[in-house]
Amino acid sequence: MKLGNNYRVVLCMIFITLLMAACASTPPPPPPQVEKIEATPEAIEAAYTSMAQSEESTATVWAGKTFEEFEASVYREPDTGIYIVSGDTPITDPKHLREFFENKVQKAGTPTAGLAVMQIGGVDAAWPDHEKRGLTYCVSNSFGARHATVVSDMAAATNAWEMVADINFSHMPGEDGACDASNNQVLFDVRPTSGGNYLARAFFPGDPRNRRNVLIDNSSFNLTPGGNLTLVGILRHELGHTLGFRHEHTRPEAGKCFEDDDWRELTSYDAFSVMHYPQCNGAGDWSLLLTDMDNSGAACLYGPASGFTPDPTICTTVVAPIPPCGEQIVTQSGSVTQGQEVQFGPFSTQPGSNFKVVMTGQGDPDLYVRFLLPPDQSQFDCRPYLTGASETCDLTMPVNKIRAFIMVRGYAAGDFNLHITHTPNP
Ligand SMILES: [Zn+2]
Repeated sequence: MKLGNNYRVVLCMIFITLLMAACASTPPPPPPQVEKIEATPEAIEAAYTSMAQSEESTATVWAGKTFEEFEASVYREPDTGIYIVSGDTPITDPKHLREFFENKVQKAGTPTAGLAVMQIGGVDAAWPDHEKRGLTYCVSNSFGARHATVVSDMAAATNAWEMVADINFSHMPGEDGACDASNNQVLFDVRPTSGGNYLARAFFPGDPRNRRNVLIDNSSFNLTPGGNLTLVGILRHELGHTLGFRHEHTRPEAGKCFEDDDWRELTSYDAFSVMHYPQCNGAGDWSLLLTDMDNSGAACLYGPASGFTPDPTICTTVVAPIPPCGEQIVTQSGSVTQGQEVQFGPFSTQPGSNFKVVMTGQGDPDLYVRFLLPPDQSQFDCRPYLTGASETCDLTMPVNKIRAFIMVRGYAAGDFNLHITHTPNP
């Protein structure tokens, strides 16, 4: 969540985990300013103004520039090394940032199309049924005197989503003393940061553990007293990301702050959505409350919470998953040269079951998984695309998808071992 300055705004039009936006022909923007963001009315007004100014030139900034120049301009968290684009969206691996630059920043991007869920390779990036009620987190003791505030505000913000969707967040107080990105006793960590160039930032389902953090900038504790913008509101927005929800303003109806097309609508466009930055033509007043469309959209994706009845006229589709059974494990190994592709499969899969491939090895082979047909470089349902050989695809098989294929491609030469878990379709 962020208020916007020139740099943030440039990136606001762009986007995230694998992608990007438009551009054409002038000097690159100045290096990011790491500054404390005061959410005063004056600062919000300045954010509106600077966004309007910088959006005009966003499309022309990066043509003819190198990835290295782009990378140097992207804000990088000092403590984690994670890149931040689109205001509060993390990118961990330089390979993803390069792809974001090449596919989105350097190509003219035009918007094509409530609540929208992130998609990777055409598949929802949402928590599968076997994980959605176990969203555990810690709150770092390094918040010090603010720890109790963060604990209670996280409880209030998680409760807003739990009231409507069949998901469950759980604070694990016993982990608060060792609450960092390496703590595997929790699904994600909540930690303080400063000078972060944002109010807070989060992650998406499917991100690796080291990226699954909710970082709260010191500026989020210095908001205008009595103002609409509160830490609870900021956390409601960030927790929406952790459930897979995209910025509502990436939808074409917003008319500004387009990021990319990698999402699927859960409801019609909602200018009041908790996921809509007000400064991106949003209609909200910075309260960042869940709207009726947010409530029903979240229930559409995860199923309704006990006691909540989604509005059937708001929901688009509801998919009832089939419980898994009869898991089988297969292992494969091999090696690839740079650019070489090796195919495996098909693997029979039961819709609704878990299909998981864990790759280990040496060098830089890349793992691809695709439902129904063999994957290639541009068609896949999962492709972690990380530097090195350690990659995992952990998928819930969609309805009507009764087989899956695997490909290993040499980004650089390497050796690989695959550990494949699947449930054959009876
Ligand atoms: Zn956000």
